Amino acid sequence: MRIDAHTHAYAETVIADPVAWAQARQELHWLDLVAPQGKHSLQGWVTQDEMLADMDAAGIDRAFLLGWYWQHAQTCEEQNGWYADWIARYPQRFSAFASVNPSVGSGSLDTVKRAHDRGFIGIGEMHAGVQGFSVRERPWLAIVEFAIENNMSINFHVTEPVGRPHAGRIPTPFADFQWLATEYPELKIILSHLGGLLPFYELNPYVKKIFRNVFYDTAALPLLYQQQVLRSVLDVVGVEKILYGSDYPLIVYPKNNDKPDFLKGIDAVQMLGLAEDELDALLGGNAEKMVWPDFRFNSRRKNMKNS
Ligand SMILES: [Zn+2]
Repeated sequence: MRIDAHTHAYAETVIADPVAWAQARQELHWLDLVAPQGKHSLQGWVTQDEMLADMDAAGIDRAFLLGWYWQHAQTCEEQNGWYADWIARYPQRFSAFASVNPSVGSGSLDTVKRAHDRGFIGIGEMHAGVQGFSVRERPWLAIVEFAIENNMSINFHVTEPVGRPHAGRIPTPFADFQWLATEYPELKIILSHLGGLLPFYELNPYVKKIFRNVFYDTAALPLLYQQQVLRSVLDVVGVEKILYGSDYPLIVYPKNNDKPDFLKGIDAVQMLGLAEDELDALLGGNAEKMVWPDFRFNSRRKNMKNS
């Protein structure tokens, strides 16, 4: 089973005019990333049908639809509504992560509970800096406890502490993730974008032990790091801690591409020279085990098309 563990999707009203949509909701950080003023945007926009066609072309069985670190609770609800529709319509092809903003208070737990009732499997991407909450305080910690009880993993957007200045560079302190993994060792944490290179700290045996339930996804790697980064991180933490994710429909190979696709990222992983079982783990097995630890899918892709 091939899973892309980090994708995003938007309703057609957003695609039609992302600027007006974001301005009406005051989602200015998101707007700055997807439609930077006076700059070319790498954001791609696709409909549900286009995404399914691109998944088919690359042999992707299932995509995890990640929410966004919206600044406002209402936008979280709006996105969760789109995703509830997507997973209800194509339960074999899409799984959803809930958007939530804990800075609004205890109502944020209800947002997550509602999403869980609708079949969401995780929470995130979260970004405490952009969303204005502390990962060490309630009501966020009530969400963490709910996630543990209900086997929801939590995905965090992570930025490396040093690097190229850009609009997305709002600190995501590594120490916060260590704190969370220490206090809540059962929580399944996914640190996006190869954790902003945090996995190299697992060379420290103390950190490695604490981070045993911490996973890293590969979203947007070609835009962020040199090509050898994935090989290097695999050597440090082992293939079982890496979830393949593209950040589709972000255009992560902009040199020769003006539209998003899944193929180039998969090709890059296949060129790493991994053994077949390692490749299967990276490209889906790890994500499957994380979300459905007691269940193996036996329906293969050819059966899924009828769903
Ligand atoms: Zn991200």
